[in-house]
Order: sequence, then structure tokens, then C-alpha cells
Amino acid sequence: MTYDLLVKGGRVVDPAQELNATRDVALLDGKIAAIEESIPETSAREVLDATDLIVTPGLIDLHVHAFWGATAYGMEPDIGNIAKGVTTALDTGSAGASNFLAFRKYVLERSDTRLFALLNISAMGMIWPRIGELTDIRWADVQEAVRVGRENRDFVLGIKARLSRGYAGENDLEALKRTIEAAEAIDGFVMIHVKDTETPLEEITAMLRPGDVVTHAFHGKSEGVLDGAGKVIDRFREDQQRGVIFDIGHGSGSFSFRVAEKALAQEFLPDNISSDLYNSNVEGPVFDQVTTLSKFLWLGLPLYEVIRRSTEITARIMGLEDSLGTLKVGAEGDVTILRLDEGRFTLTDSERVSVEAPQKLNHVRTIKSGRIYCPWLK
Ligand SMILES: [Zn+2]
Repeated sequence: MTYDLLVKGGRVVDPAQELNATRDVALLDGKIAAIEESIPETSAREVLDATDLIVTPGLIDLHVHAFWGATAYGMEPDIGNIAKGVTTALDTGSAGASNFLAFRKYVLERSDTRLFALLNISAMGMIWPRIGELTDIRWADVQEAVRVGRENRDFVLGIKARLSRGYAGENDLEALKRTIEAAEAIDGFVMIHVKDTETPLEEITAMLRPGDVVTHAFHGKSEGVLDGAGKVIDRFREDQQRGVIFDIGHGSGSFSFRVAEKALAQEFLPDNISSDLYNSNVEGPVFDQVTTLSKFLWLGLPLYEVIRRSTEITARIMGLEDSLGTLKVGAEGDVTILRLDEGRFTLTDSERVSVEAPQKLNHVRTIKSGRIYCPWLK
């Protein structure tokens, strides 16, 4: 046998190699070994029939919360991620310098989902939402963040800060300054949670560097990307052009169809689509990353562009594009198989506005490092 596994007859959508066509994908030793118009079934030990299905690189979610039991938002990562088609996910700031080692030992190292993390600039992480983690700026300890970030650089890709009034109060700019300082020291990127900030959003994004991420970009509260008349503020287009990443980060309170429709109509597209999946939104309105992607199909973004924002672009933001987010030969053997169902599907945003969509992506199978994910057969 030449291959371990063959995914046969699916519509392969792999923007990293500009592919949107029927292909067979073969895996060997945990990697993508071949991708061709036709690969014989007899060449593989196991064959998955993907006829009428969509085959993508293993989906990547740039914004989740996976520190179950220790932080207010933590959910068990495998239930929400790999079991729903996401092979790689980035935990964004659940843990800070004080509790990162527990997160590493008990979650990051032992999950089936391939997890990475952004360290919270607040040493406490996100333990208790009723007392903002940056309302006392002493928690933003740059020296400790740099030490823990460096020691765990195999998992830590950068630094996160939540800058909303409730979490940072008047400390938003000082917290961001410290976040950037720590990220520079570990050569990582910054992600900021925006929405209802004390400081105007334009002043905040002006501080970001190319490659830094604004998450919750299409929230429906104050200090967003639209002005009072519903027009995209020029400053944010300029930020995007100079390389600042605008990411969705849906969450329970951070994605508005109204804002997204206006932004897309003015051709201000999100660079990346992520779920902000956590314990209290996994039963809705978020559900999972595939549902979040389906909302952008409803908004009119073509499937290819939707998948690009959870594969090719996401891997590049994380600096992992050589091995993840693509089905190129030699890449990690991560594959997600989806079905584009037709019918009537209710999709709900964070403002509890529901729409009826004629199409919805649904997860069928997940392959991670060459193995079909099957939680009951470890
Ligand atoms: Zn979040």
C-alpha cells in the first residue's frame, strides 16, 4: 500500500494553493502525501468517500477559550473544536503569567485539538468577568509575561489584552502599550479585544503593528468600525492596508449581522473569521466555527473566501503556514470534511437577531495528523 488514507472524490477547497475543484487527497505517515485528480482506491489502506462533500485543510479557529474549570469562559476544547471540524485552535488570553503552567500541563499538552495560546497581559488571565483583569494596571506585568512567554514559546504565539471599559477601564492605552512591549520581547503578535472602549477605537488601532489582530471587529456596541451614519471609518481601512488584521471573534456579545452587512456592502471584509467559542455560547448563538463560517455564506461571501479565512490566512497570522492551513504535499495531514446542506436554517448573531439561510455548512469528519478523529476509539 502506498498510502494510509485516501479521501476520494470531494470538492477540495484549498485557497493556499488556489484550488477549488474535485480532487483525491492521500495521506501517509501523518502528512499530506498526494493530491491529484484521481488516485486509485487500491493504493490506500483506508478510503473515505467524499463524493458531494467539501474537503478543506483542517480548519483553524483563531479565537477560543479552552481553560476549562479554571477560568470563567473555559470550555472543554475537544468537544467544541476537533469534534466539530477544527483541528487547530488558538486560546486567546484565558491564562496569564500566574496560571499558564497549569493551562499548559493540564490542557495544552493533552488535548486532541492542536492548541496554541496567547498569554494574557494580565497575570490573572480571565478568571472572573465581574472584576476586569486590567482595572488594576498592576496585573499587567510585562516582565512576568515576557518570562512565561519565552519559557513556553512552543505554545505561546503572542499576547492578548481585553480593552473594553468593563475589563480595562481607563487603563486601556497603558495596557495596550504593555501588551505590545511584551509581544515585541517574545517576537509574537498582539490580539486586542475591542468594543465599548474608554478610548476611541481609532486611537487604539493606530498603536497596532502589521500582523497584530483586532478581534470582535464587527461587534454592534460603541467604538466599532462604523461611524454614526453607518459608514466604515477610513482610519480602519488604512489600518487594514498596512497589515493590521480584522478578525470576527463572534462570541456571545461581539458579532452583529447589521454591522457585518454594512461593512461588507462597503467592501470592508474581515481578514479572518473566528468563533470566540466558550462555555456559555456553545449551545448558541455561536455553536461552533462551522456555524460561524456559515453566517458569512449567508452574508454573501463565496465559500472559497470563507474557507480562506479559517485556513490559509489564519495559518499565516499564526506563523504556521508552512505546515497548517493547506493540503499541499508535505503539510500536516489535517483535513476537514464538510457538507453544504440546502434547506432553511436559522442563524442568530450576538444581538439575538435571527436570519433564515438557504444553505449551511455542516461538519462530517475530521482528520488530524493523518488519523480520522473518533473520540470513542482512542
Ligand atoms: Zn474571547
